[in-house]
Amino acid sequence: MQCAACRREAVVFQPYSGKYLCPVHFTKDFEAKAKRAVRRNRWLLPGDRTAVVLTGDAAEAALLAFLHKLTKDRRDVRLSAIAIDEGTGDTGRTVAEQFGVELFSGSFAERYGTTRDALFRAEGPEAAGRICHVLAGDLAAEIAAARGITRLALATTVDDRALSFFSDLLGGTVEETLFVSETLGTARVPVIRPFADIPTTEVYRYAELCGVSPEGAGACGTDGNSDACAALASYDARHPATKFALANLATTLTGIAGTGRATHDRCPACGSPRKAGRCFACEVRKKYTREPGS
Ligand SMILES: [Zn+2]
Ligand SMILES: [Zn+2]
Repeated sequence: MQCAACRREAVVFQPYSGKYLCPVHFTKDFEAKAKRAVRRNRWLLPGDRTAVVLTGDAAEAALLAFLHKLTKDRRDVRLSAIAIDEGTGDTGRTVAEQFGVELFSGSFAERYGTTRDALFRAEGPEAAGRICHVLAGDLAAEIAAARGITRLALATTVDDRALSFFSDLLGGTVEETLFVSETLGTARVPVIRPFADIPTTEVYRYAELCGVSPEGAGACGTDGNSDACAALASYDARHPATKFALANLATTLTGIAGTGRATHDRCPACGSPRKAGRCFACEVRKKYTREPGS
């Protein structure tokens, strides 16, 4: 199939726009979307020290590639990476080396005395996904706070936002979406999500085109509800704008919840939404966090 903008062979089809795009025009379109998100949200300001959180996913490598391209000629912002080893041995640290970006590391084994695999065995896949999410976020935020990093960049995509909203709806935890914390960890380091408006498949394709996709793409993340993931994927395959619609609805509702009179019980320790007075993140911390160095 030919590219919608030139005569080259297309490598990407966007079902939601009906467009086929070649590598050049796909890259242009992709980077324009991510830049727009960065600009609109004022995510890259003079004096910022931004670190991409790496846990071994190709989307995070793509994010580092994108932010490196965006900031390499700027002297007023500094980019680094924080590699979190969840015990799978794969953190994407080679990507940081590839771009010559300053790299900091943290390890589940050292910090928590456990690994992602051990958590999956002990807690089951769905709970373990959420637990790893809290622990990885906390560890990245701890390192960021210690190193003077002002923002943590996460490779959240449209699919991630749609799926967490959908799972929250089905699981009755919709406050997790409505009152989502835009900071990480108890250190409350602000997060940025430049790929929030881009589908996962395109993020993985971008990673490949940037030469930072080591072992290709995983399908659905292991975080959250896998039944919901399968249901959403099959519906989205027939109705290609579904994930955008869900992600946009989540954004709209978050805005309404934030400005309206909808008050919500937030955890005083970490700012996460609480349910029946309980903070999931803090319960995870209590169970798994050891004092540093103990
Ligand atoms: Zn083209
Ligand atoms: Zn809390």
